[in-house]
Amino acid sequence: MTAINAHDRSTAQWQQLDAQHHLHPFTDFKELADKGSRIIVKAEGAYIYDSEGNKLLDGMAGLWCCNLGYGRQDIVDAVSAQLQQLPFYNNFFQCSHPPAIELSRLLTEVAPAHMNNVFYTNSGSEANDTVIRLIHRYWDLQEQPQRKTIISRKNAYHGSTVAAGSLGGMNGMHKQYATLPGIEHIDQPYWFGEGGDMNPAEFGLAAARQLEAKIDELGADKVAAFIAEPIQGAGGVIIPPETYWPEISRICKDKGILLVCDEVICGFGRTGEWFGSNYFGVEPDLIPFAKGVTNGYQPLGGVLVGDRVANVLKAGGGEFTHGFTYSGHPASCAAAIAVIKALKEEGHIERVREQTGPYLQQRLAELAEHPLVGEVRGAGFVAAIELVKDKAKRQRFEEDDGVGGICRDACIAAGLVMRAVGDTMIISPPLTLDKAQIDELVDKARAALDATAAQLA
Ligand SMILES: *Cc1c(COP(=O)(O)O)cnc(C)c1O
Repeated sequence: MTAINAHDRSTAQWQQLDAQHHLHPFTDFKELADKGSRIIVKAEGAYIYDSEGNKLLDGMAGLWCCNLGYGRQDIVDAVSAQLQQLPFYNNFFQCSHPPAIELSRLLTEVAPAHMNNVFYTNSGSEANDTVIRLIHRYWDLQEQPQRKTIISRKNAYHGSTVAAGSLGGMNGMHKQYATLPGIEHIDQPYWFGEGGDMNPAEFGLAAARQLEAKIDELGADKVAAFIAEPIQGAGGVIIPPETYWPEISRICKDKGILLVCDEVICGFGRTGEWFGSNYFGVEPDLIPFAKGVTNGYQPLGGVLVGDRVANVLKAGGGEFTHGFTYSGHPASCAAAIAVIKALKEEGHIERVREQTGPYLQQRLAELAEHPLVGEVRGAGFVAAIELVKDKAKRQRFEEDDGVGGICRDACIAAGLVMRAVGDTMIISPPLTLDKAQIDELVDKARAALDATAAQLA
């Protein structure tokens, strides 16, 4: 058996068929048809290759998921062997299978100590839908059924299903689908963009206290939970000031509401810790995860459930009426088991925490000198570069200038995949980059910044 052969058709033919029949996620279909998609044909290590033979350093680890990079024969073998042994069986009707059981053991071993149960989904979006179902079930079993409101944040990303999109705070998404009832949004802790005259510490406290004010406004007995990404990813790698998470934790404890940390991006080593919750020292009740758990080799998501919630779910009578045909799919679980073993045995997370993470951040910080750059921020192996018109005033370009898009195209031309969120350039590369590859990434980013500045002049 061979893979679909890239050489069966020319790039132009692939692009034409793609535009004719394939509706892409989060895409302007007309624009894509006009430009033609980039056809990615293979990947190895930290690099992807397109149908024209261009080699690109993948600064986004696929879509925040290929934390171990590409070309992992161990994961391929694990999936292949599992497909031969038991390609599918469900976990409904009092059935289970070894890959789901073994993965549950491993996940709860690496998760924060108070998290000892896991519910499986196929994606991060479904994990967040599941979060809503778990929260409702928990408060019903606690005989506080009026506690149903979930507080989230503007510019959060929690996925794209109707429920996950409602939890998220993306304006463009809400314009195309109204938010489900029972979800409220407070401001994000985005000091560079919204901090005004406050210093980061003051701003972090103020942003956190919006949660307290919102709970008081709604009535604490009506509020079920607060959900947030430890570091907002798709919103632009927004890293809260140090004061933020301790205050959020205090407020959730004081008000008795559940805390949900969406670790779909931060989980599995991104920050140099297993989870973003470890990085910020918070103890969530629920952790939705996906992406890095399988290194992108199979679709898999889930929710780690803390003891506070799990004990109630397990004690309460009656069925939890929720689940998916492929909850805990054997091949996906086999991929995740291989990934967790690799993360544990090959020392990737420790290396990011102690060596390559600090080195990446130190090298990226040099870009702050560039005339186009207003701020560089990061943690572990995730970072953002803010492009600005005026450094001192933190003044942005006009949206119509499309500066982020220009810089993204310049990155590609320089051989680097970096993503633009407005005028915020973001990276989240494989955790496997060595120092030479980090130098390569920073050199290419600098070349792209220079090319962007030249084009603007
Ligand atoms: C990507 C993402 C999701 C959604 O995951 P899918 O697998 O695309 O459904 C949810 N939360 C966060 C923080 C994400 O980055």
